[in-house]
Amino acid sequence: MDPRAALPAVGRLVARDDVRALIEQHGRDATVEALRAAIEAARSGHGEPTPEAVVVAATTLLAERARGTLVPVINATGVVLHTNLGRAPLGEAARAAIAREGSGYVALEIDLPSGGRGSRHAHARARLSRVTGAEDALVANNAAAALLLALSALAPGARVIVSRGELVEIGGAFRIPEIVETGGARLVEVGTTNRTRLADYERAITDEPTVLLKVHRSNFAMVGFTEEASLEELVALGARRGCRVVYDLGSGLMVRGASIGLPDEPDVPGAVASGADVVVFSGDKLLGGPQAGLAVGRGAAIEAMRRHPLMRALRGGKLVLAALDATLAAYERGHALEELPTLARLVADRESVRARCERLRARVGRGEVVDTVARVGAGAQPTADVPSAALRLEVESVDAVAGRLRNGSPAVVPRVEGGALFLDLRAVADDEVEALAGALGKIFAGAL
Ligand SMILES: *Cc1c(COP(=O)(O)O)cnc(C)c1O
Repeated sequence: MDPRAALPAVGRLVARDDVRALIEQHGRDATVEALRAAIEAARSGHGEPTPEAVVVAATTLLAERARGTLVPVINATGVVLHTNLGRAPLGEAARAAIAREGSGYVALEIDLPSGGRGSRHAHARARLSRVTGAEDALVANNAAAALLLALSALAPGARVIVSRGELVEIGGAFRIPEIVETGGARLVEVGTTNRTRLADYERAITDEPTVLLKVHRSNFAMVGFTEEASLEELVALGARRGCRVVYDLGSGLMVRGASIGLPDEPDVPGAVASGADVVVFSGDKLLGGPQAGLAVGRGAAIEAMRRHPLMRALRGGKLVLAALDATLAAYERGHALEELPTLARLVADRESVRARCERLRARVGRGEVVDTVARVGAGAQPTADVPSAALRLEVESVDAVAGRLRNGSPAVVPRVEGGALFLDLRAVADDEVEALAGALGKIFAGAL
């Protein structure tokens, strides 16, 4: 007789002790659904057609469903700010702030001294202004939202002049021309791909309301015969001709690039000091905080953004405000390089990364420690080489092992390059090495 004919009905399986335990843990509906799916799979010839095997398969399905898909990952790619892996890991103070502010009520929109209504914007405003040197500041959902808000508030129906060399696409769908259009403004392109002069902007200014938009080319570099107007020049031009100046700075570097071993690039305090009306940047790139879009600059411009109806739709939530405040406090104390994991991982010298690799090698008993080149990531500093080190593993099938690592527990995302498998430890914390060794141990305990 075909054993599949003897497959039990769901009704009889639910009487089993092990299934009752599943119901207790996952709920009746989810358990019944998983049993049905497991029986169906066994009927169609996948898997063992016995009641025990069906329960094992259902248990696995339920565990996967309970775990969800937004799971922690060990980032062994060597890309420190990996957009697909959530960019900046938070520092201890930011994690504590989220736990503290999330576990009870917080003074989000109340003025405690008077008991009257307060503003959620007050929280980030003070510290963000102090740390960046700006007159005022606000927090939106991400940099794209902050730029959309800036253009919507400062340039409704206005002409927005942008250099042809700065009409960039960032990430999958963030395109400057589209953001300008969505903000209800009209894009005016000036200059050429490689050269745009101040005179090009000046010629494009008319009597109509105009915003000068400068965009940091964060995710690509131009070399050769290039020319661009500096932010200072644009601010001076804007002052002369009555145009607001908005600067999309992108990565939100708060310290000098050299202090974290990177080529110098525009930083936030410098951009604010040049006098732009609004400087927009991300919270989760080189700033090292939570996903957020920060807009800092002149009081009147930021206030116009805060009053715009889109502000409510694009504002940051209380947990983001909590994590951001704790992150900015590290800058204020002068401890950002030690306390913020993104910066700490970028400044660590290669020797310490190699030492971590040696520790991993000793634990897994295979592979070779090699020098590698890591990246900043998240479209920031695309040409900067960050010296790093990795454990290179010789395996039969690189893709199969990489797949098992990604689907393991904990999930590990390695780097595959030139047909070889690398675990680059530039972006791996010291206290993750043990878990990484465990994940590798599980794979190599099997036959590979
Ligand atoms: C990354 C980046 C953005 C988008 O930032 P999000 O916070 O992801 O919205 C916008 N502009 C520039 C120049 C960037 O580098």
